[in-house]
Amino acid sequence: MAKYYPTIGLEIHAELKTQTKMFCSCKNNPDEEKPNVNICPVCMAHPGTLPVANKQAIENVIKVGLAIGGNIADFTEFDRKNYFYPDIPKGYQISQYKYPIVSGGHLADFDVTRVHLEEDTANNKHDRGDFSLVDFNRAGVPLMELVTEPKTFDASDDVAAKSASHFAKELQLILWYLGVSEANMEKGEMRVEANISVSEDKNVLGTKVEIKNLNSFKSVERGIKYELDRMVNLIESGKKDEIVQETRGWDDAKQSTFSQRKKESSHDYRYFPEPDLPKMKLHEAFEIEKMKGELPELPAEKRIRYKNDFGIKDEDIEMYINDPNLGQFFEIVCKNLEFQKEKVKIASNYLLSDLQGLKNKDKFKSNNTYNFSELVNMIFENKISSRVAKDLLVIMVDTGGSPLKIATEKDLLQKNDEGAIKAIVEKIISENPEVVATYKAGKENAIMSLVGKIIKESKGSANPQIVIKLLKELMG
Ligand code: ZN
Ligand code: MN
Repeated sequence: MAKYYPTIGLEIHAELKTQTKMFCSCKNNPDEEKPNVNICPVCMAHPGTLPVANKQAIENVIKVGLAIGGNIADFTEFDRKNYFYPDIPKGYQISQYKYPIVSGGHLADFDVTRVHLEEDTANNKHDRGDFSLVDFNRAGVPLMELVTEPKTFDASDDVAAKSASHFAKELQLILWYLGVSEANMEKGEMRVEANISVSEDKNVLGTKVEIKNLNSFKSVERGIKYELDRMVNLIESGKKDEIVQETRGWDDAKQSTFSQRKKESSHDYRYFPEPDLPKMKLHEAFEIEKMKGELPELPAEKRIRYKNDFGIKDEDIEMYINDPNLGQFFEIVCKNLEFQKEKVKIASNYLLSDLQGLKNKDKFKSNNTYNFSELVNMIFENKISSRVAKDLLVIMVDTGGSPLKIATEKDLLQKNDEGAIKAIVEKIISENPEVVATYKAGKENAIMSLVGKIIKESKGSANPQIVIKLLKELMG
């Protein structure tokens, strides 16, 4: 098979988290379920109304630009992007064309071309039969658009598709860490479109296809992979001219793409500067250098710090990176444990496996760093067995409280006292003569079944080493 070079460019829209909409004082509430309540004459495009730009939204885009190392424009302006559709009441979208807020930057495997600010459209609902409804709550919500440079991969379709989905994930993390967007893909707060092509010649681009409806990171990966494979198959079977420039939708149920509309040439949106909004000089209106210094710790920096400070596995670090609240909990616990490596390792294991499976874990995490640290210390000092530790954690999460206190009350502390364990060992030996006989006949493994019974009888508190030692002594 010939070698093919996939080229991928990404366009990502993200709704920004602001109090109000982009150009009016309507509430920006993505969770509003009642249609058409967050609307006013401005976002409904009544004649004579004037837009006022939302400073918070501009600030959010500047933060994103700084976080990806982009250039913050000195001069910027808004433009009208003209098109007719029921979800855009003005007949144009206020967007940015020639002078985006951010130019350049880099994230994951992609160079960033630009990040600009625009307004979101209304929601059309086509599921009611032979008519459609429009909900304008989303119309005019601040929307950030990030465009990457096309990247040609010298690698397989799989690698290229994964790299695109990884970019989207990294962008989502940055938006979270900056606190500028919830960027929930399933809710449509972050929308990914991919422009892709394949070519046999690294220096010549193939025909470009745009994929939409990529509503999850998995869809981004699968949609791109599917489309790259489709194009390669057409080329291989001599049907290269069936690859046409078009927009294709990803059908998640069928796991395939379908043609939506053919693009003869790029749309003529008749962009022109928005006359109702002032031009902006960002370096005068904002303290850009100060904002740069005040950026929060970003995922890339946090990964390095976690690696250096805690020495835990990369997969574990990713769990904390993806769940900053969990990371916060872990960090406080580590501080309580004075960063002792062995204890940190125990803490991370229990936090990422046992605690994550429990129903009330979120409530627990809000104020139980001290109790959790105490539990880790008890495990480290061999005061409890791992079985008891798991049981204790369940109780702690359900009812709260000090694990040492709970363990003492319920008599679960590890018994290292031979006298106390001996009574249980003797009891189990007398109850299981046939197992004892098997052991004495030379099947040494039989001892493990007795150990299990003794530990169970002690509710997990008997120290297994001492149990084995006593069993061997007593059975001769
Ligand atoms: Zn409004
Ligand atoms: Mn856009």
